[in-house]
Amino acid sequence: EPQVLNQQQHGIDPQLLSANAVRVTHTLQDAGFKAFVVGGAVRDLLLGVKPKDFDIATNATPEQVKRLFRRAFIIGKRFQIVHVMFGQDLLEVTTFRGASSDGAPKDEHGRVLRDNTFGLQHEDAVRRDFTINAMYYDPASQTVLDYHGGIADIRNKTLRIIGAPEARYREDPIRMLRAVRFAAKLGFDIDPSTSAPVAVMAPLVNNVPAARVFDEMLKLLMSGHALACLQQLRKQGLHHGLLPLLDVVLEQPLGARFVTLALDNTDQRIKLGKPVSPGFLFASLLWHQVLEKWTAYRAAGEYPIPALHLAADDVLNTQTEKLALQRKIGSDMRDIWAMQPRFERRTGKTPYKLLEHTRFRAGYDFLLLRCASGEIDSAIGEWWTEFIEGDGPGREQLLAQKS
Ligand code: ATP
Ligand code: MG
Repeated sequence: EPQVLNQQQHGIDPQLLSANAVRVTHTLQDAGFKAFVVGGAVRDLLLGVKPKDFDIATNATPEQVKRLFRRAFIIGKRFQIVHVMFGQDLLEVTTFRGASSDGAPKDEHGRVLRDNTFGLQHEDAVRRDFTINAMYYDPASQTVLDYHGGIADIRNKTLRIIGAPEARYREDPIRMLRAVRFAAKLGFDIDPSTSAPVAVMAPLVNNVPAARVFDEMLKLLMSGHALACLQQLRKQGLHHGLLPLLDVVLEQPLGARFVTLALDNTDQRIKLGKPVSPGFLFASLLWHQVLEKWTAYRAAGEYPIPALHLAADDVLNTQTEKLALQRKIGSDMRDIWAMQPRFERRTGKTPYKLLEHTRFRAGYDFLLLRCASGEIDSAIGEWWTEFIEGDGPGREQLLAQKS
């Protein structure tokens, strides 16, 4: 039986709720179904934070949900969810899932492959990951249903997995990465029994399809708390031999300063609501690996530019395979890297041409990071800043200075 909290007890500010989330739950309830805001949105509401997206849980089947909305699409073959659209706004509506694990198909390490049967609300709550992510909010009655002590954990700032930690990590090793991300992002402590098995079970993440690991890594790196997350991962023993990218990032002595600056820069941008491109982020994380190989190819007698391309190929090939880097991200990374030597040629028409490059801004931001990390002379970055800001004669003067 869940604990039921009224408005006075939970204190959620109704202003933080999205009108469309209220609309969806209301429509479903009008048609005789149960419907709640669920998961991360309830957690954020309880913390007084405006949720970035709203998930809805219901006892209506995907077909029944679809019929109630004008723009609703059933997504996914096995694990069906419904996307309900209002203009640009997208809400995910999920039918309560049954408590899986026992009967569900698994791989040889015990990882659940499909989790697809519908169930009752308390079963839906039990299959969620952490107590603070397993609460349901009904906008109509303004009540919160708390099945696993999530409210208490929010108040004590504790991240606690639901059920037996070993079994839950075995079912889905990604939960270990999620634990680190939520703890870092929310500033919560991980309950000792939730964190204890991680050291031993960390290698299970290797059996998870690369694309899922990549998605989770991206969320982690774009959480606005990437630095804190990486420190946590290291503390939990989750970095070693786990992800090739993380090994590179956390263990390169030369690149440490560069990567720290890049992540700090990303965290700041996200906190300010500025966009961050995954290509820029991964280009930064892997830059010192590129530099190392670039040096090696030049030492072997290659010309600088072809050597840089060879180095980029090497790094991208390894990482694409292991991390499932999407093609688009890979080509953004290559562009940013390939632009770097061109910043050094500051004569004639070359700088004007570089200014017109579609990714000039990313390349320039990257150059500034290289200056800030001490890799190259900051005079180059300053020259470019002046060149960008300069007018016609000012630019000619800067060019004359160089030649
Ligand atoms: P964020 O703010 O990062 O989106 P979130 O809690 O909404 O946080 P999602 O990945 O969007 O995280 O997942 C939505 C909800 O689905 C979670 O709150 C949790 O209840 C459930 N969930 C997601 N991933 C898992 C998982 N691997 N195992 C169990 N439950 C999960
Ligand atoms: Mg979410």
